[in-house]
Amino acid sequence: MKKLGFLLGALAALAAVPIAARVQRGGSPKSQQPIVLHAARLFEVVPEKIVSPGEVLVEGDRIRAADTSVPHPAGARIIDLGDTTLMPGLIDAHVHLFLHPGTAEDLQTVEESVPQRTIQATLAARADLMAGFTSERDMGTEGAGPADTALREAINAGLLPGPRLRISGMAISILGGHEDAIGFNPAQHVLGNADYANDTEQLIETIRQQRKDGSTFVKIYETGPDRMVPHGSAPCLGDPICAQLGLGEQPGDPEFWDFHTPYQYTEAQLKAAVAEAARLDTNVGVHCQGEPAARFAVEAGVASIDHATQLSDGTMRLMKEKRIPAVPTFAIFEYFADHAPTPEAAAREHAMLDYKIHEFKRQVAAGVPMAVGSDVGPFPHGTQAREFELMARYGMTPLAVLEADYLDGARILTWQNQVGQLKPGYYADIIAVPGNPLADITAVERVEFVMKGGVVYKGKGSD
Ligand SMILES: [Zn+2]
Repeated sequence: MKKLGFLLGALAALAAVPIAARVQRGGSPKSQQPIVLHAARLFEVVPEKIVSPGEVLVEGDRIRAADTSVPHPAGARIIDLGDTTLMPGLIDAHVHLFLHPGTAEDLQTVEESVPQRTIQATLAARADLMAGFTSERDMGTEGAGPADTALREAINAGLLPGPRLRISGMAISILGGHEDAIGFNPAQHVLGNADYANDTEQLIETIRQQRKDGSTFVKIYETGPDRMVPHGSAPCLGDPICAQLGLGEQPGDPEFWDFHTPYQYTEAQLKAAVAEAARLDTNVGVHCQGEPAARFAVEAGVASIDHATQLSDGTMRLMKEKRIPAVPTFAIFEYFADHAPTPEAAAREHAMLDYKIHEFKRQVAAGVPMAVGSDVGPFPHGTQAREFELMARYGMTPLAVLEADYLDGARILTWQNQVGQLKPGYYADIIAVPGNPLADITAVERVEFVMKGGVVYKGKGSD
């Protein structure tokens, strides 16, 4: 009964999507009528400027011009967005469309069918788009196999509203590693949330299988389980590489905690995965919380280091040199700290968050490139623009956060010439926010207007 209620609720929510947004085909607007967006301001990231007023000319699914004024072709539809700032659609470089709050990640695989989770993912995609996220990198279906392929194709065909997606199918992990179904009755053969690969050959085979199933990049778990341990109790846990890097001496939260996480794949294995991804014209993103895994991943040439809680000085230097961004994912850490089930768990999660903040400040000071990724899914879809606010709160300027999102984010999604800027020829992925995001970054949490590929999904002009 509970599940039937869920499905009916999901269908009702889907029915609430404006017809115009549902019936587009081929991801392009239904008519070729040019559109001129007009607003009090326009923010452009390269070169960085805010002009007033701001206008964008949209033809088909592309931007034709953007400036303080643009040509108004005969018959153009003018949408006046009033006292708002026009800016490129937001990019979330780390999402999980197939996860929802309220049930532990591993239990969603156990208790919910893939069709049920796929329906939920369509709602997540819609919520993210309506919050202004027009491009996303889905970092793993967490047990729903390659169901993200169907979702992406439905969005691209204009059947469902959602962001442009880079998809990975399931993340890849080692047997008994991060996101394996540990702690269940072995006789039940509970499925984990990842595809398993234990050596180089299996990694390559898994990547090929995922590509066959529709993936467009590779997600690998490179660390886990990640945990805070009482200070001094487990420096490197006998791991010689960790000791060699001097990480046993690295302080955790100020006085009481150390961070510890084992690596999953060696540098050579990751290099093979990166080479296979490159052969397929794509890249590898890693869940990677600490050393020595981060060094392995950066040496191997991954596209981004996600979570990036602990990075050695040498790794930070290399990331700067190789332009490999960290994706801090503060929003999820904050959510877990604020929603822990017990006071003990809350203390641990808060220690982890404090440690992350401490390390993030070092990373910003060291000039490590950043991208914006929230890890949304375990917390409600559509609320993840909070990540921008947290990155600014913990040490970046609003402009630096927006540059990280639009430039480094687009680059790790390999769409740097198509999204993230209001330039002629780029996709017409445009949002409008109240106020000036450079003065108050929380403006991106109040998106009033969303256009993707020339189609208005939210705000004036959506009906
Ligand atoms: Zn994640």
